[in-house]
Amino acid sequence: MAELRHPALRRAFFTMAANAISQLPADNGLEVGFAGRSNAGKSSAVNTITGQNSLARTSKTPGRTQQIIFFSLDEQRRLVDLPGYGFAKVPFEVKDHWRNLMEGYFRQRASLKGLVLVMDVRHAMRDYDQIMLDWCEATKTPVHVLLTKSDKLSRGAASNELQKVRKELQKWKVDHEVQLFSSLNAVGLEPVLAKLCTWLDLPPLETT
Ligand code: GDP
Repeated sequence: MAELRHPALRRAFFTMAANAISQLPADNGLEVGFAGRSNAGKSSAVNTITGQNSLARTSKTPGRTQQIIFFSLDEQRRLVDLPGYGFAKVPFEVKDHWRNLMEGYFRQRASLKGLVLVMDVRHAMRDYDQIMLDWCEATKTPVHVLLTKSDKLSRGAASNELQKVRKELQKWKVDHEVQLFSSLNAVGLEPVLAKLCTWLDLPPLETT
C-alpha cells in the first residue's frame, strides 16, 4: 500500500509552547493552525496527519494548561496546536485567558496560512467552532474542517452530517472546505494532506 503521509510532515518536531502572545516565535515563514473543542479529536488528528503516534498529547482530561504549541517541519514551516476547551464548567479565567491568547494570535499572525478546524462529527458546529469561524472570517484565514471520528457513525449518517455542516458553513464569508475524517482508520487523510501541501508550499504527495 502506498505511504500516505508526507515526508515533510513526518519530520515535524516540538519546538516550543507559548502561554502568552509575547512568547510567540518570530512571525516569518508559513504555518497552519489546528483548533478544536476539547476531546474533538484534534491531538489524534495531528498525530495521524504527521504519522507520529505521540507528537501531540492525546488525553481525556479537560482543563489542561492553555498553550499554543509549535511543531516545526523545517526553518520556514510550522504546525500550530491551538488550545481548545469545551466542557460546560470552564472557569471564567480559563475562558478569558483562552480568548486573549487566541484572538491575539489570529489578529497578528502573518504566517498563519490556514486553519484546520477539528470537530467531532457527532457534535459539530458548537460555540467554540463558531467563534473560530468568526475569527477566520475577520482575519480572512481559510478553513479546512475535519469532521473526525467518522468511524463512530454509519456511512449514511456521516454523509448526512457532512451535508448539514457544509450548509451551515455557508453562513461565514470565509474560504472553506469540509470533509469526513477518522484517526482510527485514517479515513480522509489524502484531502487534508493535499490542503496542507498547498498552505505550506510543500511538493504534492505522490502515492504511486
Ligand atoms: P483533543 O482533546 O481534541 O486533542 O482529542 P484527542 O485527540 O485527545 O481525542 C479525544 C478522545 O477521542 C480520545 O479518547 C481518542 O482516542 C478519541 N478519538 C480521537 N479521534 C478518534 C477517531 O477518529 N475515532 C475514534 N473512534 N476515536 C477517536
